[in-house]
Order: sequence, then C-alpha cells, then structure tokens
Amino acid sequence: MKSEVYDIVGIGVGPFNLSLACMTEPLTEMRTLFFDKKPEFDWHSGIMPEWSTLQIPFIADLVTFADPTSKFSFLNYLKDQGLIYQYYIRENFFILRSEYNDYCKWACEQLENLRFDQDVQTISYDEASKIYTVETRNSANELTVVQAKHLVVGTGTTPIVPDFCKGFKQELHSSADYIEHKADYKNKKSITIVGSGQSGAEIYYDLLNEIDEHKYQLNWVTRSERFFAIDVNKLTLELTSPEYTKHFYNLPANKRDEVINSQDMLYKGINTDLINQIYDTLYIKSKKPDFDSRLITDTQVNSLSYQDGKFSLSCTRQDAQKDFEMDSEVVILSLGYEFKKPKCLMPIAQYLNWDEKERLDLSEDYAVNDDKTVFVQNLGLYTHGISAPDLGMSCFRNAIIINKILNKEVYPVEKRICFQEFLPE
Ligand SMILES: Cc1cc2nc3c(=O)[nH]c(=O)nc-3n(C[C@H](O)[C@H](O)[C@H](O)COP(=O)(O)OP(=O)(O)OC[C@H]3O[C@@H](n4cnc5c(N)ncnc54)[C@H](O)[C@@H]3O)c2cc1C
Repeated sequence: MKSEVYDIVGIGVGPFNLSLACMTEPLTEMRTLFFDKKPEFDWHSGIMPEWSTLQIPFIADLVTFADPTSKFSFLNYLKDQGLIYQYYIRENFFILRSEYNDYCKWACEQLENLRFDQDVQTISYDEASKIYTVETRNSANELTVVQAKHLVVGTGTTPIVPDFCKGFKQELHSSADYIEHKADYKNKKSITIVGSGQSGAEIYYDLLNEIDEHKYQLNWVTRSERFFAIDVNKLTLELTSPEYTKHFYNLPANKRDEVINSQDMLYKGINTDLINQIYDTLYIKSKKPDFDSRLITDTQVNSLSYQDGKFSLSCTRQDAQKDFEMDSEVVILSLGYEFKKPKCLMPIAQYLNWDEKERLDLSEDYAVNDDKTVFVQNLGLYTHGISAPDLGMSCFRNAIIINKILNKEVYPVEKRICFQEFLPE
C-alpha cells in the first residue's frame, strides 16, 4: 500500500540525519520520515572504551549551531536527565562518547518520524511526477513502501578491509567491533593493531592499560611515517568553516584531490592528549616484568596467512624497503572508514551526478542530481573538504538542505566566520 508523499525521506539514522530529523521536527510545512536498518539508534558503540570522548565540544550537538533554542540541544538533555550541574562542575567541553550515544537515543525517543529495523532496499523514480518510491523491509521481511519528493542519504561509512584480509574466519577483527571481542583478548598471547588513527590509538591505549594483568604481547603497526597528532590549532580549525568549504569547492576537481590528500593531519591523526597518555603509560608499564609491546611505523602490511592458531603478517618497512614477518594470535584492523555506494540507490543511479572517478558529484548545496532532490550527508571530502564528515558541521549542512528544499531561509546560515582569508583580492 502506498502512503502519501513525504517532503523528505531520509535513508539511515546516524547523527547527520538525526540532526536533520530534529531540525525538521518543528517545521509544520514539512512531512519527513527517516529509516534505519538497525533495531534502534546506535552510534559506534562497538568501539567505545568507557573513557572515550567526542573529538568536538558539546556545543556541536544535533541542533545548537542551527537553533540554540531547540528542545533537542545537549544542554536540554542534561537538564532533563538531572545532570546539568554535574556537567558544570566537570568543566570539560568534551562529551563521553557513550553519553553522546545516550543523548542521541534521548532525541530519537522524542521524534515520531523515525523508523528503525527498516532496511531501505530499493528506490525508484517516476520522471513524470518527479516522485521517488522507497521500499524497505524489516527483520520479519515485511515490505513498506513510501513516496518522497526529496531523499537525504545518510548511510554513513563502513570500516575499510583490504582485499588480502577478506575471507579469514579466525581472529581478524575490526576496530568497529572492539568491545564485542575485548573480553577474549585477556586470554591471547599476542594482539596486533594495524592502523594509527584515533580508533587504533584508543584500542592500543585501552589494551596497554591491562598489559601487565593479561601478559599479552601488544603490537601497533602503521603505514604512516609516524604516530602523528591531529592538528586542531585554532587557525587550522578555520578550515572547517563555511568560507573555506566554499573556497575548496570552487577549486578545480584535480586540485581538490591534491589538497585533500595533503591534509591527513587535519582529520586522520590522533588526539595529542591521547598520544601523551600512551607514552606515559608505556613508561610505567615498561618497568614491569614480561612487558612486551612493539610500536612500528612506516610499515605496510602486505599480506596475511593463518596457521597453528596465529597469523603471520608479511610486512615492509617502507623507507628502508626491508621485508619482515610478524606473528600474532589476533589482528585488529583499524584502517579508517569508507563510503560505499548504497545498493538502494543503484536503480536511480542514472539520475544522479557522478564524477570522473565514479564518485557521487555533489553540488555546493550537497545535492547529487540536477533537480536538487537527492542530497547526501557526510560524503564529500573531495568536493567540500575536511568539513564533510565533521559532526560539528552537520547543522550547517542540514540548514542548507532544508533552506534549499523549502526555497527560503528557514535556518540562517553563517557566510563568514574566519579571521583568515582564502582568496585574497
Ligand atoms: C569511533 C568513531 C568516532 C567518531 N568521533 C567523531 C567525533 O568525535 N567528531 C566528529 O566530528 N566525527 C566523529 N566521527 C566521524 C563521523 O562523525 C561518524 O562517522 C558519524 O557516525 C557519521 O554519521 P552519519 O550519520 O553519516 O553515519 P553513521 O553514524 O554511520 O550512520 C549511518 C546509518 O545508516 C544506516 N544505514 C545504512 N544503510 C542503510 C539502508 N540501506 N537502510 C537503512 N539504514 C541504513 C546504518 O544502519 C547507520 O545507522 C567518528 C567516527 C567513528 C567511527
């Protein structure tokens, strides 16, 4: 049975589309519906050591940058939960990641336009009516069909798994599932983490803290030349601004690729405090008997094999071009996340814009078709720069999407916030 036509159907309910759901809730002129295949909202709980915090301050919540008076603000959550004075006394702008997850779940409970356990499987488009038909199935395989004038794709990213790592049934884990497996690690003789982004560092630090208790050998291997810190100096943070985003967008496509490839330190590194905590913990733990941990940089893992209960990692130290082997009972891949083209979009692929590298080609206002009826979240490092995956910029993106769809400025959008200039005249 087909329902009435929604103004927006959102595919996926991560923080980006949840922010959009909160921001559209007070807009009586808009009917919206958001689907997620998970049984309930859940934000990266698989990699959530209890001490881990968001990398951005609490003000970058689901709504505040667009509407500081919104009832969905983090401060309103704290007030509602009786935590606002504890948060004041804590004097720390960085929310625990588990607390951010709880806050998002609290926001979900107040929204009537979210449907969980609904996998969006296929989307079709009727050119005459300019209407999308979205088909979802729940875990009981029941079909739901809805229609929409606009789609907002918020399907997020998935952990990167190199081809040579596929197919192993043994202890080859993803950082995304760390918490699920953590209890088993105490029984292992050796654990190797591959990758040195924030997640890899968090896992190394978490396991390092228990190394003398469980006596495993703990290895941390990375292709990066060094364990580098994310650069969050205040003038660098201006590169997440609306005006740098606009400047970046207006560069030629090949130049944009070149620039983003040179900006790893702005969005891929490790929090400086965590690097220092790791060093200080290493200093303490290294004095204990049987301490065994290897930190190896500039090293490519080329292949894996598995025999007699352990992996053999075939590696190359890149600057010296020296090949070597390492053994480990467990390997934890922490190689970052990538956007995969959602299968449900394939039936309408012909209506979408693609660049020369077969990537979705975003307009400045985050649409991926000429009619500006299909928008994407999170995606667009190669078109909009480092602000694209930044949760702190989700309100900005959603304000632009809402204003575009309603063809009026519902949410004012800041045009200039930087002290520095990017294209001096
Ligand atoms: C551990 C971790 C910590 C991070 N911390 C920060 C941080 O502190 N600050 C920051 O700015 N960024 C952070 N990021 C980066 C980024 O903000 C997150 O990846 C964020 O979750 C992106 O939100 P999203 O809404 O795009 O997608 P996701 O959170 O990935 O959500 C996508 C949703 O879409 C659903 N979905 C996918 N396909 C379908 C389908 N076909 N049908 C229905 N549902 C579907 C999925 O079930 C999922 O719930 C972090 C990333 C990770 C991995």
